[in-house]
Amino acid sequence: MNCVACESTNLIEGKILDESGGAKPRFKPLEVSMWKAVFGIGVQEVTVFACVHCGHLQMNVNFSDEDRQRYLEFEGEQPDLLKRIESESE
Ligand SMILES: [Zn+2]
Repeated sequence: MNCVACESTNLIEGKILDESGGAKPRFKPLEVSMWKAVFGIGVQEVTVFACVHCGHLQMNVNFSDEDRQRYLEFEGEQPDLLKRIESESE
C-alpha cells in the first residue's frame, strides 16, 4: 500500500482511539439505517494507516465478502433499495 498523498510505502497500521466512549470507528453506508447499525448489521470495521513521511492518515473499510459482492454488482453510483429489488426480480 502507498500513501495517497506522497506515494511513500512507509505506512504504519494503527487504530483511531476514541477515549470518550471506547467505541471502534466503523463505516456505515448511508443506505444502512441507524436501527440496523445499532446491532452491527451492515457496518464495516475500519483499518487505519499513517504515513511516516508526511503524516497523512488513510483508512480502509474492511468489507465482508458478502457486502463486497453486493456492492460490486453495480458500477458507479449505487442504486437505492427499491431499484436493487427490481433488478433482482427481473
Ligand atoms: Zn505520505
